[in-house]
Amino acid sequence: MSLFEFIKKSPKAELHLHIEGTLEPDQMFVLAKKNNIQIPFKSIDDVKRAYNFDNLDSFLKIYYEGTKVLVNEQDFFDLTWAYALKCKEENIVHTEIFSILRLIQKEELNLML
Ligand SMILES: [Zn+2]
Repeated sequence: MSLFEFIKKSPKAELHLHIEGTLEPDQMFVLAKKNNIQIPFKSIDDVKRAYNFDNLDSFLKIYYEGTKVLVNEQDFFDLTWAYALKCKEENIVHTEIFSILRLIQKEELNLML
């Protein structure tokens, strides 16, 4: 077994995870189109390039762009489900998930809470 396989198969814990940070470039692009949200990217590849952040500012910029495309309950469900599948794939057996929902203006978020 290679070191990569060993690490991938080892049980893991995520002790502080902001669910919005799990948004994959393709998800961002799809949700932006679905929700008619303007993002400064023309393609999934553009988004992927933006994910190559090199400091906190560039990370936060793409992070906040991602939060803009999350509009309704279904978006958060889909995001969380995609993360759950990633947990299974990566053998993440414990995760402590946070969300910035509390920071988003209620008017901006059309959740049925
Ligand atoms: Zn945090």
